[in-house]
Amino acid sequence: MDLIHLDDLDPRRRRKAEKSALLSKLGGLCAYCGAENPVTIDHVLPQSQRPELKHYWGNQVGACPRCNGSKSDREWLTWYRAQPFYCPSREANIRAMLGEWGLLPDFAEQPVHPSDGVE
Ligand SMILES: [Zn+2]
Repeated sequence: MDLIHLDDLDPRRRRKAEKSALLSKLGGLCAYCGAENPVTIDHVLPQSQRPELKHYWGNQVGACPRCNGSKSDREWLTWYRAQPFYCPSREANIRAMLGEWGLLPDFAEQPVHPSDGVE
């Protein structure tokens, strides 16, 4: 007999569980500035440009409201590299996530930093 998870029966409960799992990705920190306890979900590839990725796990990260609001629907890498809190290792984390979920070809034109962990 299969186990029945309560989360599967109640969409609101499932959504809450998904949100909390999303917010704890990338060490539970804002994906961009590293602030603790990010409370918003940011779509790395903006919803306005990639609406089909709205619910795509690999396109969502936890972000603090300041970063989420500032980034808005800008192209993430251009925006991120212009921020005073820009951090190459956090960029690498986001790239790794996008790559894992097959979203990296979008950035094929961007130079890949040698320390990005490419084998
Ligand atoms: Zn932030």
